[in-house]
Amino acid sequence: MIRFHILGAGGAVPTPTHNPAAYWVTVDGQSILMDPGPGALVRLVQSGQAPRGVDDIETVLFTHLHPDHCADLVPLLFALHSPVPKRTDPIKLFGPPGLASYLEKLKDIYGTWIEPRQRKLEVTEIGPGVTLPLAGGGSARPFKVDHNQDRLARFSLGYHFSDAAGHTAVFSGDTGPCAELNKAATGADLLVVECSMPDHLATAGHMTVSQVGELCARAKPAKVALTHQYPPAAALDLAALVGEFFDGPVHQAIDGSVFFVPEDKNR
Ligand SMILES: [Zn+2]
Repeated sequence: MIRFHILGAGGAVPTPTHNPAAYWVTVDGQSILMDPGPGALVRLVQSGQAPRGVDDIETVLFTHLHPDHCADLVPLLFALHSPVPKRTDPIKLFGPPGLASYLEKLKDIYGTWIEPRQRKLEVTEIGPGVTLPLAGGGSARPFKVDHNQDRLARFSLGYHFSDAAGHTAVFSGDTGPCAELNKAATGADLLVVECSMPDHLATAGHMTVSQVGELCARAKPAKVALTHQYPPAAALDLAALVGEFFDGPVHQAIDGSVFFVPEDKNR
């Protein structure tokens, strides 16, 4: 079973309903914090999904290193430097090439204040072709996407999650239309896809409403959740607009939206 909790359904510009990127993905009982953007820790704890706070975080995945996807790494590590957390097993960070040097630069600024006191910090740079096994028998597989070409984003990733029973959820990360996303999304049980802007505000490295619609029409995921909505997109009825291209279920996420694979009618 996959539970996909959207803690932040917005992009870089926060609104009351659409804060920057943050996701809590649970695959067969193992939870992952994906893209800890600004405010991610607060929203995770407020969600009730992490009753032990930072002690509930074992694995952090990054799609890329733009601030709206990773700014809460410093608050997370600073919290782990405090003597309060009790967990002692390693905290594991996975992300694209550049993650380790990004962390080294943060250490130049913050020094030992961002060294976890009780836990070893394991940093692993990953890319397409890698499979991360998850404790319950599922996996997370990164795939290349087509975002910006700056040093924080040129190796941007999306993630393909599978549970032990073979159910799948695909997260686009930040990207424009690309073959790798088409492939990953094809036949997915859940596609969580960025829908940054309306067509008339098309921005390089991001998806417009029509581009999301065309992706869904081709890939035919069983269910679609739209995320990373900047305010001009969030103000629209995105589900209806994408629905003009695709007749499957489309949901316009807000902060706190939760999606299950498979669907459980009793939940
Ligand atoms: Zn970005």
